[in-house]
Amino acid sequence: MTKDYKEEYLRAQAELEMLHEIGNAMRTTLNLEEILYIILTAVTSHAGLSFNRAILFLVNEKEGRLEGKMGIGPDSGEDANAIWSHIERHKMGLEDLIETGSQFKHLDQSKLNKIVKSIKIPIREDSGIIALTTMEGMPFIINTEEKKQKMRNEISQLLNLEDFVTVPLKAKDKVIGVIAADNRFNRKPITNDDIRMLTMFANQAGLAIENSRLYERTVVLSNSDSLTGLWHHGYFQYLLGEEIKKTAREKQSFTMLMIDIDNFKHFNDTNGHQSGDAILRRISTIFNDVSRKIDIIARYGGEEFAIILPYTKKEEALVLAERLRKSVEENQEIKDMTISIGAASFPEDGQDKETLISKADRALYEAKRTGKNKVCT
Ligand code: GH3
Ligand code: MG
Ligand code: MG
Repeated sequence: MTKDYKEEYLRAQAELEMLHEIGNAMRTTLNLEEILYIILTAVTSHAGLSFNRAILFLVNEKEGRLEGKMGIGPDSGEDANAIWSHIERHKMGLEDLIETGSQFKHLDQSKLNKIVKSIKIPIREDSGIIALTTMEGMPFIINTEEKKQKMRNEISQLLNLEDFVTVPLKAKDKVIGVIAADNRFNRKPITNDDIRMLTMFANQAGLAIENSRLYERTVVLSNSDSLTGLWHHGYFQYLLGEEIKKTAREKQSFTMLMIDIDNFKHFNDTNGHQSGDAILRRISTIFNDVSRKIDIIARYGGEEFAIILPYTKKEEALVLAERLRKSVEENQEIKDMTISIGAASFPEDGQDKETLISKADRALYEAKRTGKNKVCT
């Protein structure tokens, strides 16, 4: 082999090994957040593509826009030095970085990540280079004064992007997102090799993202009740168990509500089951609208619902329960329809699923017995 050829060959081999290693890491999980973390760690780690910062956007087709999902990289030059010397000192390879999730834990505190998550870019020609990458489905490099001037906009300023590269994330032939990467701290020029590697990698990453989304969609579908779209009874039992474990570990409290529609049998007998079903759907929508994002809502049985209110003590839960009750009572589309609610809190009312459910049930029974359309504990 000639010297040049051999060098070329060794480099290609190293690249393939790296792609293989990243591929293996991506196959260890189907959780979307974790996949995104692995992708961006691969783009930024020394053992990977060694960019200083990497930012990932995903297409929201319904809204016709790109949404910032995750950004990895130091917030400042000082940060950058601290992180790199730590990695150097501990001889951390790609696998170690992913394994320890060293940056994953700090994502909450990362300024870059916070900014990224607030960004929404309409997919239009005039929204800049990141949108253009999605529309054209090809990489772009911004590395001359002229390009920088032309492409400077709110987003690039917000992210302090000067010299940077963007690549589309593709699943089959569809563009599902964009990765933007730069060397903001060491100012290393971005080479054609860098772009070629990043493009190759992005194809692999796009498929991993798509797989994980398909999986998450399947989980949601198979655990939802088909009439209301809420979690079904079996999955509620599982989620309640998980909530107990988590809350006990963190020494916190949560409250669960058991809800039953008042005099529903009479409504069904008078108006027919289809009208009854419409009410069940309507009430599910009200629960979704009125509850918080963290609350877990399930259809427990026929016309019974259960809601888990994480990190919520009894008093606060009663306020939320009262708001639910009132929203149903006052809804004009379902006139004369009311609900009764029983509440039980972890840990004071019970420390296992069975006790909590039975306490909430008893409270619900009390609400029914003492006149309905009310909340009891
Ligand atoms: P209470 O105020 O004491 O709760 O009186 P109720 O009539 O609501 O009594 P109960 O909770 O026992 O009523 C259950 C009724 O709910 C029986 C059935 O007619 C109706 N139901 C249960 N599941 C469904 C469903 O999936 N669709 C429809 N349309 N009705 C249902
Ligand atoms: Mg009932
Ligand atoms: Mg009922």
